[in-house]
Amino acid sequence: MPAPESSLFDAIVVGAGAAGLFCAGQAGQRGLKVLLVDHAEKVAEKVRISGGGRCNFTNRDLDPRAPQKHFLGDNPNFCRSALARYTPTDFIALVARHGIAHHEKHKGQLFGDHSSDDFIRMLLAECAAGGVTHWQPCQVARVDHRDGQYVLQTSRGEARAASLVIATGGLSIPKIGATDFGYRIARQFDLPVVATRPALVPLTFDGDAWAPFAGLAGLALPVRIETGEKKARMAFDEDLLFTHRGLSGPAVLQISSYWKEGTPIRVDLAPGVDIAQQLLQAKSRSRKLIANELAAWVPSRLADAWVQQDPAWQRPVNEAADKALLQLAQKLSKWELVPTGSEGYRKAEVTAGGVDTKALSSQTLEAKTQPGLYFIGEVVDVTGWLGGYNFQWAWASAHACAQALSRSSSGPG
Ligand SMILES: Cc1cc2nc3c(=O)[nH]c(=O)nc-3n(C[C@H](O)[C@H](O)[C@H](O)COP(=O)(O)OP(=O)(O)OC[C@H]3O[C@@H](n4cnc5c(N)ncnc54)[C@H](O)[C@@H]3O)c2cc1C
Repeated sequence: MPAPESSLFDAIVVGAGAAGLFCAGQAGQRGLKVLLVDHAEKVAEKVRISGGGRCNFTNRDLDPRAPQKHFLGDNPNFCRSALARYTPTDFIALVARHGIAHHEKHKGQLFGDHSSDDFIRMLLAECAAGGVTHWQPCQVARVDHRDGQYVLQTSRGEARAASLVIATGGLSIPKIGATDFGYRIARQFDLPVVATRPALVPLTFDGDAWAPFAGLAGLALPVRIETGEKKARMAFDEDLLFTHRGLSGPAVLQISSYWKEGTPIRVDLAPGVDIAQQLLQAKSRSRKLIANELAAWVPSRLADAWVQQDPAWQRPVNEAADKALLQLAQKLSKWELVPTGSEGYRKAEVTAGGVDTKALSSQTLEAKTQPGLYFIGEVVDVTGWLGGYNFQWAWASAHACAQALSRSSSGPG
């Protein structure tokens, strides 16, 4: 028996997050009959909580010709085509057309002036303009590929389409709807998945070793942070935040994406200051405690905690041995520490790894060996830096896919 008209679509998009909503709207506006399905109660929960509730929706510094600068993955160049065809300027123009006021904060990061809800309303309006059918909440129990069609058994009945777009994101923040659905579908169709791990995530440290710093929770300061050796070395100049269990803040979130378990991170707590020279000079003119001298360059709470590590540092600077001052300076500018782990998917902003880009077309995001099956957004092994890069990948990959859908589904040619 042929499927009822109401359940037959040109394309089904699973996942009504950033990438899924944008793709569905774009494809609908190109004349496709699109169904958008999501199991959660609300759409785009990650857009809602993004950027501290203001959505850091893109980044002006993104260079599509050199995506490896701001994106990680087994092949960081994979995202070049999609990013070049839908740029931050394109998305900024869309935001402007919807009258959403925004501003640039730091290092090219663009945020809404009011609330992330403005962006969710915009994405829903784009879907409405494309006549997208929206089933939510709706569970997808099973996906089959039969006679050139994807057949989905859902809690709202069966749906069929020649094209299936997986936009179910990564594993981070399961409590607002993240699942491994996309990876399971990839495996079902024999597509490889690069091992996943939490990224843009706070790092944690062993309880005893962390004890001297646990009292610093809440303290933030600008640092230079790095990890890796030689060609694999990565460094960021950003703010560091002490937490009860370890370190967070933009510096640590950024470096966490590059950090490999069991290896150290190195932190310069007073970047741009020659602490050794400053302390040796202070020795000839000051009788202040070393901690008080240090407080000229780092927050005093940190200075007080820092000197607790060695009795030789708990005295007036003029009474300290040169060697002790040099050791203190060395440790402060090259604080080397090995995280025991991270806060995991519970707190990670993104998931690194995902559907292997080798299996996908960089032009269309279609699986090379499975016609009509597409993967977009975070479910793919493309991970951006903090600062709007992950959303720009969601918009750009959704756009590339929507263009391909309209071509492949609108008849011959
Ligand atoms: C706290 C936080 C703040 C962030 N801030 C920013 C920021 O300011 N700027 C930035 O660029 N990036 C930010 N990110 C990252 C960004 O939110 C994601 O990279 C982006 O949302 C990925 O888009 P996506 O559409 O691929 O996935 P998501 O937006 O995660 O959407 C996936 C959708 O799929 C649905 N889904 C999952 N499983 C199933 C299933 N089994 N069946 C049906 N539906 C399913 C989910 O309910 C969800 O609606 C932040 C992330 C977090 C967690």
